[in-house]
Amino acid sequence: MVLLEYGIPTKMVQWIMKCVTNANYSILINGGLTKRIQAKGLRQGDPMYPYLFVLVMEYLSRTLKTLKDIPDFNFHPRCAKMNLTYIRSYSPSKRALISWDRICMPVSTEGLNVINFEWWNKAALCKLIWAVYSKKDALWIKWMHSVYIKKKNFNIMQTSTQACWLVRKVFDVRDWYINIESFANINKFCRKGQFSIHKMYTLSRSQYPKVGMKALLLGTSIPRYNFILWLALNHRLTTMDRLVAWGIQVDLGCVLCKNKKNETMAHLYFECQYSRSI
Ligand SMILES: [Zn+2]
Repeated sequence: MVLLEYGIPTKMVQWIMKCVTNANYSILINGGLTKRIQAKGLRQGDPMYPYLFVLVMEYLSRTLKTLKDIPDFNFHPRCAKMNLTYIRSYSPSKRALISWDRICMPVSTEGLNVINFEWWNKAALCKLIWAVYSKKDALWIKWMHSVYIKKKNFNIMQTSTQACWLVRKVFDVRDWYINIESFANINKFCRKGQFSIHKMYTLSRSQYPKVGMKALLLGTSIPRYNFILWLALNHRLTTMDRLVAWGIQVDLGCVLCKNKKNETMAHLYFECQYSRSI
């Protein structure tokens, strides 16, 4: 019902309900599997889970908002002023563990090699200005030259005020490109005579010194372990000392060994008796 009220197509709702209702489990006892036990709900680790959770939370929030319309409903004394019927979530800190720029860096330079789409998009658009600059033999480029550029110098000419949105965007990218590289060097982003978006993306980003952790990060195949290791190598694990530095009130002591040592990364990995015993 909830999904239908959101306007999700019936067919899609049927698929989701199929996933939710036909889960079953069997238990491994003495090396053999038991009969299947019917269950309700999603299977463990189902990628659909976060989406359904968000939808249900949204529905619950909207339902709770209507509570105040019920005549018998009484606000909590401190919530009446704010019309507050519920508190949806509490997040102690919205700090990012690590900057997005760092995440987008190559693995060899301490990053995770996630593509920065903003930069990739700009690099892709640079292919258009390369084509215009090199006067490629395409109809739209001939049209650009004959209508807008004419005999002017594409590198420095003013953007035509009568140009359509698309053409103005091409000129915007030209301005962006001029800030990072000159037109005389545009061919350095080419591979075998063709503009390479990947080359442009790699060369136009900030260059960082290489570090020796690449082999370490690629050594294990479990992504979650890799990620925790990567956070540790970047000193970004949310240990108690870092939470305190963020102004969050927590007990600094290590909860594992209880020998009154502060929970720092060095303690967890190299000093803690409990960690050592594992
Ligand atoms: Zn400890």
